Amino acid sequence: MALLGDRQSRLLVDGKLVTGGGGTFTTLNPATEDVLGVAADASDADMNAAIDAARRAFDDTDWSTNVELRVRCIRQLQRAMRDHVEELRELTISEVGAPRMLTSMAQLEGPVEDLSFCTDTAESYPWTTDLGIAAPMGIKTHRTIAREAIGVVGAITPWNFPHQINLAKLGPALAAGNTLILKPAPDTPWAAAVLGELIAEHTEFPAGVVNVVTSSDHGVGARLSTDPRVDMVSFTGSTTTGRAVMSDAAATLKKVFLELGGKSAFLVLDDADLAGACSMAAFTASMHAGQGCAITTRLVVPRQRYDEAVESAAATMAGLAPGDPTDPGTICGPVISARQRDRIQGYLDSAIAEGGRFACGGGRPAGRDRGFFIEPTVIAGLDNEATVAREEIFGPVLTVIAHDGDDDAVRIANDSPYGLSGTVFSGDDDRAAGVAARLRVGTVNVNGGVWYSADMPFGGYKQSGIGREMGLAGFEEYLEIKAIATAT
Ligand code: NAD
Repeated sequence: MALLGDRQSRLLVDGKLVTGGGGTFTTLNPATEDVLGVAADASDADMNAAIDAARRAFDDTDWSTNVELRVRCIRQLQRAMRDHVEELRELTISEVGAPRMLTSMAQLEGPVEDLSFCTDTAESYPWTTDLGIAAPMGIKTHRTIAREAIGVVGAITPWNFPHQINLAKLGPALAAGNTLILKPAPDTPWAAAVLGELIAEHTEFPAGVVNVVTSSDHGVGARLSTDPRVDMVSFTGSTTTGRAVMSDAAATLKKVFLELGGKSAFLVLDDADLAGACSMAAFTASMHAGQGCAITTRLVVPRQRYDEAVESAAATMAGLAPGDPTDPGTICGPVISARQRDRIQGYLDSAIAEGGRFACGGGRPAGRDRGFFIEPTVIAGLDNEATVAREEIFGPVLTVIAHDGDDDAVRIANDSPYGLSGTVFSGDDDRAAGVAARLRVGTVNVNGGVWYSADMPFGGYKQSGIGREMGLAGFEEYLEIKAIATAT
C-alpha cells in the first residue's frame, strides 16, 4: 500500500494510527513552496497518551528483556523501509528539499542500512559481565555488572537529515530495550510519520513500544523534558533549544543526551594542495544548502595565500548554483523554510556590515522566485571575531579566515563555543595528525577521510553537545549499568 495515500499523516500512539487532537498542519515543499499535504497535529493529551503507552510498554511487557523480539521488530522495520525506499526517496526530496543524490547516502538509504549495526550489536552485546569473586570489606562476594535499558526515551529531532537522525535515535534506543516517543520537527513531520505507518502496518512491535507524535507546537514536545514518566531525552537540534531541554529536564533529573550546533573549521596547512582543499571545503559547505551541523563553515588558510584560497573556494561555489532537488545533478537544493532563508540573509548582511565582502553569492539567486533558495556564498575579509565566524548559519556559507602557521590555525579552530567537527589538510600525514589531535572536537577528517559510518561515534565537545550518537558509544547511551553483589 502507498505511504501517506491521502497525503495526510497520522500519529502512532499505543500501537494505533490516530488523528491529532489539534487537527492538522500543512507540510510544504521548500523547493516550490507548494503544500504537499497535512500532518496530524498532536495535542497535549495525545502526548500524554503516548508517554503513558510507552511507560506501560516498558513496565508491563518483556520488551526490555527480549532481545530476540527487539531484533526481529527492528529488522522488520528495516525491510519495510527498503521495500518502500523509492516512495521514501520522493518524499524526502519533496518534504526536506534534499538533493536526490544525497538520498542514496545519509539522507535515506545510509541510515536504513545502519539499523543493522543496532540489531547486530544487540545480538552480540555483553549484557552481563562476571567480575568474579572478591572480598570487599572482608565479605566474600560474587560481583556481576548488568546493562539494562534506561526506560522511556523521548526523542526530539530536527528537519535537516530527518531519517538519519530519527533512525540514529530509534535504532539504538529500541535495540537496547527502551520504549520511545519520537517527536520530529514541525518542518518535516512526514519523515517521522511514515515510520509510524510502517511500524503499524509491517512490524510486530508491541503496542506502545514506539510512538510517533507530530506537532506544530514545540511545547507539545517540550513535555518530554518535564514529564516524570520519561527517563531520558535524546535531543538533536540547536544549542539554544538544547539548553532549554537540559534546563527543563533538571526538575526530574532525567538523562539528557544532546547533539547540537557547530561552527567547524577546515584547516589548510601551508604544505597542502591549497586549491584542492579549498575546492573541497566549498563543495562541502554547499551540500544540502549547508544544512548540516558538522559541515566545516570556517575555511582557515595560510595568510600568505589568502587571496588564492578565496578564489579557489569561490570558483567551486560559483559552479554550484542552487537547483531543483529532484535533479540528480543538484548538490545545493533549497533551505527548509522562508524563516531559515531570511535568517541566513541576516547573517550575510552582517558580514558586509562588519567589513567583509562576498567572493561569490550573497543572496537569493536571480530567476528563482519560488522556493527557499540562497546562493552558495564565500565571505572574505573577516577574522574569527566576525559574527559569521562565531555563530551557526545553517546555510551554504563559507567564511575564509587567515592563519599564521599551525599553532595559530589550531587556536582559531578551537576559539569557538562549539566543538562538533573539523578538517585538516596537509601534504604531511604526521603533521596533519598532530594538528588533528589538538582540535577540541568530536570528529575530525584528516586529508579527506570520512568519519561518518554506523560504527563510528558522532557528537560534540563544548556547546556542541553531550554524549555520542552511533557506534557502540551511541548504543550504550541508552543503557543503565547495574552492579550486583551476591554474598557467597
Ligand atoms: P531546533 O532546536 O529549533 O528544533 C529541534 C527540535 O526541537 C524540533 O523538533 C523542535 O520542535 C524541538 N523544540 C523546539 N523547542 C523546544 C523546546 N523548548 N523543548 C523541546 N523541544 C523543542 O533546531 P532545528 O532548527 O530544527 O534544527 C537545526 C539545528 O539542529 C541546528 O542548530 C543544527 O546544528 C542542529 N543539528 C545538530 C545535529 C547534531 O548532531 N549535532 C544534527 C542536525 C542538526
